[in-house]
Amino acid sequence: MTPKAAQMPVLEAVPLQKNPVRQSLLGLSPVALEDIVFSSGLPKFRARQLWRWVWRHGLTNFDEMSDLGKTVRVQFSEMFHADRPAVSRRLKSTDGTIKWLLRFPDGDEAETVYIPEKERGTLCISSQIGCTLTCSFCHTGTQKLVRNLSTAEICGQIMLAMDELGEWPAGKPNRRLTNIVLMGMGEPLFNYENVAAAMRIIMSGEGVGLSKRRITLSTSGVVPEINRAGEELGVNLAISLHAVRDELRDELVPINRKYQLAELIDACRNYPGLSNARRITWEYVMLDGVNDSDEDCRKLLALIKGIPSKINLIPFNSWPGSPYKCSSPERIEAFSRKLLKAGYASPIRTPRGVDIMAACGQLKSASERRRRQKRGVAGQI
Ligand code: SAH
Ligand code: SF4
Repeated sequence: MTPKAAQMPVLEAVPLQKNPVRQSLLGLSPVALEDIVFSSGLPKFRARQLWRWVWRHGLTNFDEMSDLGKTVRVQFSEMFHADRPAVSRRLKSTDGTIKWLLRFPDGDEAETVYIPEKERGTLCISSQIGCTLTCSFCHTGTQKLVRNLSTAEICGQIMLAMDELGEWPAGKPNRRLTNIVLMGMGEPLFNYENVAAAMRIIMSGEGVGLSKRRITLSTSGVVPEINRAGEELGVNLAISLHAVRDELRDELVPINRKYQLAELIDACRNYPGLSNARRITWEYVMLDGVNDSDEDCRKLLALIKGIPSKINLIPFNSWPGSPYKCSSPERIEAFSRKLLKAGYASPIRTPRGVDIMAACGQLKSASERRRRQKRGVAGQI
């Protein structure tokens, strides 16, 4: 007995609830599901059948699970659900980008964005509501409310997108959703357990079966968790670098005050499984007159020397009240050319879904602003 349990008052017997709260299947690993099913008196293979219906076929209705007998279906429907997060807004851009603003039962909101490209379709998912970090150029960092998303809430974003994109059964040819990036709201390495559990579920061959090569985790530089993500999940790593001098990075990406550049670069150099086919992506937001000089470019090259790398130049996405401006297209081009000359692929990320505020954190803030206006509160974001 734990000391806490010892202090607990003795509760009077309460009648059993007829319909206890149903558990979301979207947060359960195959083993956890087996255990629950087994302890409810059913054989383990029932859990495996249920798992396939949910993760391979995307079913949410137990009546459609044709190889389960009627009694088992009823029992499962009383124990579980596979509900998707509620969508409070859905926007589709003229370029095909889709953005969902999701609302969880507690009223918290997060964003998911689907970006179709010629050869692939990428889903950008959130790992937290808001973010505790306060990167000075990032809109998510200005939002006050912060909590971790649960495993089910992280997987729910993917399930919702797969429903809408007609991706069931999972793994069929000509998939529209081929890649996942953890680049939405939040710092995934501050919610490691739930992110890892969700990615394991999504990678499971019995379910969605997305390869670890098609998943990219982006971090602002939570150094102690980087190696673990590589060892345990083997996903691709992206680093929000944005500055190549500690002094400037301390300001742009304040976690740098805790884990300085030398330490971060070291962790990246030792990231498990790095090779030319599996490179680190360095994200670098182009801020006019702040981090976009030729000197910055030289320092960047020196910093990442010897590390298999791709560099992603991101035109700064401005938001109301932001202290920065995006570098000019000519400056971004010049920066990119220098990187290319040094042998690095450095695609300039073309802004997608500008007409639907697809950039991280923007739709949520717009929605909060609208609600505040409705309530007659003069809102400042
Ligand atoms: N917290 C994680 C992942 C989410 S942010 C991280 O920081 O890596 C995803 C990417 O978008 C990061 O590289 C982030 O720095 C970048 N970003 C945030 N705000 C931006 C803005 N206003 N314009 C351009 N890129 C931005
Ligand atoms: Fe958080 Fe990433 Fe935004 Fe920084 S850039 S505030 S770590 S979401």
